[in-house]
Order: sequence, then C-alpha cells, then structure tokens
Amino acid sequence: MTNVLFTASECTPFIKTGGLADVIGSLPQSINKTTNSHVKVMLPLYDEIPDHWQTRMELVATINVPVGWRNQEASIFTLEHNGVDYFFISNDYYFTRKGVYGYYDDGERFVFFSRAVIEALPYLNFTPDVIHAHDWQTGLVCAFAKILQPLENLKTVFTIHNIRYQGVMPHTMFGEMFNLSMDHFGGMEWNGMLNCMKSGIFHADKVTTVSPSYAEEIKDPYYGEGLHSLLQERSEDLTGIINGIDTNDYHPLKDPYIVSNYRHSRGKKKENKEYLQEVFGLPVDGEKPLYVIISRLVEQKGFHLVQHILDEFLQEDVQVAVLGTGEGEFEGFFYHAQERHPERLAVRLTFDEKLARQMYAAADFFIMPSQFEPCGLTQLIALQYKAVPIVRETGGLKDTVQSFNEITGEGNGFSFTNYNAHELLEALKYSLSVYHNPIQWIQLLKNVNKSQFSWKESATQYIHLYAEFETANIYSQGVIDVATLDNR
Ligand code: ADP
Repeated sequence: MTNVLFTASECTPFIKTGGLADVIGSLPQSINKTTNSHVKVMLPLYDEIPDHWQTRMELVATINVPVGWRNQEASIFTLEHNGVDYFFISNDYYFTRKGVYGYYDDGERFVFFSRAVIEALPYLNFTPDVIHAHDWQTGLVCAFAKILQPLENLKTVFTIHNIRYQGVMPHTMFGEMFNLSMDHFGGMEWNGMLNCMKSGIFHADKVTTVSPSYAEEIKDPYYGEGLHSLLQERSEDLTGIINGIDTNDYHPLKDPYIVSNYRHSRGKKKENKEYLQEVFGLPVDGEKPLYVIISRLVEQKGFHLVQHILDEFLQEDVQVAVLGTGEGEFEGFFYHAQERHPERLAVRLTFDEKLARQMYAAADFFIMPSQFEPCGLTQLIALQYKAVPIVRETGGLKDTVQSFNEITGEGNGFSFTNYNAHELLEALKYSLSVYHNPIQWIQLLKNVNKSQFSWKESATQYIHLYAEFETANIYSQGVIDVATLDNR
C-alpha cells in the first residue's frame, strides 16, 4: 500500500475558488475507497475557512519553519472528513487575511507553505511514500523534497491544473527565503525569475496534467505558456489523467440546493428552469431554451468570442443566464449587455455555489468556448445535470464532449474547432435547431444521460502511477532479482 500526501492551496468543502478545490476535495476520497493507496491532504489554514470547520480541528504540533534569516512559527491542525484526514498549516502573518489569493506577496506565502509541508512531515504520525503536489502554489514542495530529502525514498508527483498561472517572483527571493545553496537556483529559475510551476515540473519524479489532450498541447508553444521546452524534455514522465467529479455530491436527485430533484425527468428540469427564470427576473416560460454560463470571467474561458456574437445570438428566441466574477472587461461587458437585452440576458457578478447548482439544474445548454482548458469541470457538472455543453475542442473539453451528429445520432454536446467567434455562433445556432427538432433532441439527451464522469477510472490511473514507484523501489533495493523475474 502506498501512503500519499496531497498538498494544494484549496479544497472543498473548506475553501474554493475554482475547479482545483473540487478535485482535491473528491479525488482522495475516491482513492481511499480502494485498498492500494491511502491519501491524506495538507492545506493552508486560511482565516476564510468557515468557523464550523475550524472549531473541529485539533492541534497536532507547533513547529518552526525556516524562511531566510527568520523562523516563522506554523501550527499543524487536523480533522477527519468523509474518510480522509486533512492537515492544515496555520500562520497568522501569511494566512490570516481576507480571501485566498491576490496579495502582492502570494509567491512568498506559498514559499512558506511549501517549506512548512516538508518541515511538518515528522509530526504527522503518517509517513508518506509519495507527496502529490498540485499547481504552482505547491510546486516548491517537489523542489524541497528532492533537495532536502526529508524521508528515505520519498517520491513526488506534480499535477499541472493550469499552466497559465506559474507563481513567478523576483530571483532575489531565492537568497532571501530559501536557505539553500546557489547550486539549486537553476532548477527553480526561468527567464531570470523564480518560477514555482517550473520548479515543480523540473523536480517532480512524475508530472501529470488533467487531460490527455492538454498533456499533448502544453508541449506546444501556443499552449505551453513558455514552459513547452521543459515539458518536451520531461515528456517521458508526463501523463494526462482526466478529472472526474464527485457524482454523489453533484447529483440532481440528491442536491439539496435545487428546487425540484430529478434523475432524467425533463418535466422536473423545467420546474428548475421556471424557478431560475423567476430568480433572475427573466420571463417565466419552461419551453424557452435556456443557455447558462458559470465561470471565472477571464480570457481563458473564451469570453472574447462571446463578446463578439452575444448581441447577434440574442436576436434568437432564447434566454442566457450568466454567473461569474473576474476581469473588469468581461464583468462590464455582461453588465451592459444585460441592460440592452433585459428580456433575454440575466447576469450575476458574484461567486455563489447554491445559485451555480440551481443554474446547472435549470439549464438546457452550457456555454464554454475556452481558448484553452486543462480539463474543465463545469462541462462535466453540466452533463451530470443534463445540460448540453457547447464547447471549443481543446484540452479536456475535447476529451469529454463529442459533437452531436444528426446522421449517426452520436455525440453528447456541440463543439467547434477554431478559436473563432463565428464558429461559436454557428455551434449555438445549430444547438438551437436541434432543441426544436424533437427526434434529434431526444437522441441527444439520451447520449447526455449516458455520459458519466465519476472518479473511478481516473483514481485507478493515479494508483497505478504511485505503484510504479513501489516497483522501481523494489528493483533498486534488490528485493527482487530482476534476472529471475521471467521465472516468477
Ligand atoms: P476553473 O478553471 O475555474 O478551475 P473548472 O471548470 O475546472 O474551472 O471549475 C470551476 C468550478 O468553480 C466549478 O465547480 C464551477 O461550478 C465553480 N464556479 C465557477 N464560477 C463560479 C461562480 N461564480 N459561483 C459559483 N461557482 C463557480
């Protein structure tokens, strides 16, 4: 059995800003249901984590973490939830703040956290064989693990959830914070800056990303965000494992937030639609096709395309509901578009988990024309709530959504190839024509009903990945004589 310590910057149900939290909140549970690996999770203890969780936490130890010429105190807390043990690293200076990210010293905060993860290892009553670090915030955990070797035979896996965000800092931080010899600078530096994402990719024993297509794409300059050459070098150790969702939590039959629970019933789904139309102040009509967007409002998600065609699409007899927060350009765009089309477009510029679930339940269609998409969870949640995704064929969207083909009757959504507004508009118009064609629509919904994205298969792939280390260790320790293997 492999002991695995996950480490990341967010995790449901404690703290969430995006899909990373969903993954860290659900994958360990799925892995722990098998007997082959056991996962525990380590996170920062943000002030923002609700009190009802914080009061359940127990103190494990208080330790000193070296940060340059100073020591920072860190307390390790723990709690158990749904069969998973969670550890939290607290530090008043770095984590007692409002929100999660967006501070001028975010880099320094996660240098501290990454070092704290390593320093905490002797106090956990749990000896990991593998540390599995996620995204730039914990890339340095892989670097510290390789350089400081806190445990014998400790291996690391680094998962890239989004290569656009790399955790870049001035190179002077290395001398100020790392307490390491300059020999190690090269493995952390990229284009004259310290780069946490690069450090993770460079130092980890294995690198994964969250879909097979994205694993290929990021080796290309268009998608690699400057790190493509390093990824090409590491391509033997790089794999893409598609994300799943917690199908027990995201389940329209059990979801406590939605007004009318359902499995496949379109009648019940219509009740959710009519409720949402009321909430959003749109004309209430269960027959009207409802398109939704639930997203960070950032360039990555394809909003430049939406900007170009939304007015034209809203000439059709449709409704569009948008939930999101993000860049001012897109928030402003949706805000003003809503004023132009009050009967057809409704926008909420906020982060609201309950409303998000009510929107998935109400929607006929889910729009996601991403410029790039490592995996994407929202299209998977949409499918789970029987909303038909309309996506661009990139990364995980390409791996999870197949365009409907009216001749063969195959496909669980609509897709287009090029990052081009007219292609998006065409896909939207085609989706509308299928909606109004009862035979095609029923066939499409049948395909949607069959689309399942639980963690089961992907969890097994991670377990196999961890097991590769065990096999390698056995060989290297001479426990198995390789020469006799054929006779076994
Ligand atoms: P990201 O790139 O943001 O991680 P994903 O598709 O992987 O995108 O996951 C986004 C997650 O965040 C989903 O669970 C989605 O429902 C949720 N989400 C995004 N924006 C909002 C919002 N404004 N309010 C509530 N939930 C949101």
